[in-house]
Amino acid sequence: MARPKLFESFREVQAELERSGAALFRDKDGFEALVIRNPYAVQYIHSYAEDTPFFLGLAEGKLMGSNCTNPKCGFTYATPRGHCMICGTRTRWVDLPLSGKLHSWTTCHFGSEAFLKETPYNLGLVEFKGAGSLLLARVKEAVESELYVGMPVEARFDAMPKFSITDVWFVPSRGSGGGDRR
Ligand SMILES: [Zn+2]
Repeated sequence: MARPKLFESFREVQAELERSGAALFRDKDGFEALVIRNPYAVQYIHSYAEDTPFFLGLAEGKLMGSNCTNPKCGFTYATPRGHCMICGTRTRWVDLPLSGKLHSWTTCHFGSEAFLKETPYNLGLVEFKGAGSLLLARVKEAVESELYVGMPVEARFDAMPKFSITDVWFVPSRGSGGGDRR
């Protein structure tokens, strides 16, 4: 069996692994390491526990927030929270509006495997009337140069829900008057 090819650039090691499944990598100190390519698959069983209504809601085209039941607090979260992060009191579910405003965003030119095909894509923090925290989701149907702070956006839901946060994303509002201007 031939010795695997030797590389000093890890990018070239990765290319070689695609081809042959094994390579030697020599670092700047002259240390040589054998690197192999090994398929790996995981089935991850995940319970949403108290967050369950949020994900069931996405599948029904609803955005659900968590409202603190302490009358002295009453904070509303735009994400699922079983208990209030400020005062520790249990929360109750409330419907969030399906439109909001873009609070901030970033454009991702790289992503995890599930999102690589979509790159570059926009990730936005969306603010909703009546909620004190933000929801992180993709912003579609707009390129980076079209986005701005305060831009009205509205939710879209996956017609084939996967019970994941990616079941919801936002697009620029096309309604009259530019949506919800608080
Ligand atoms: Zn509270």
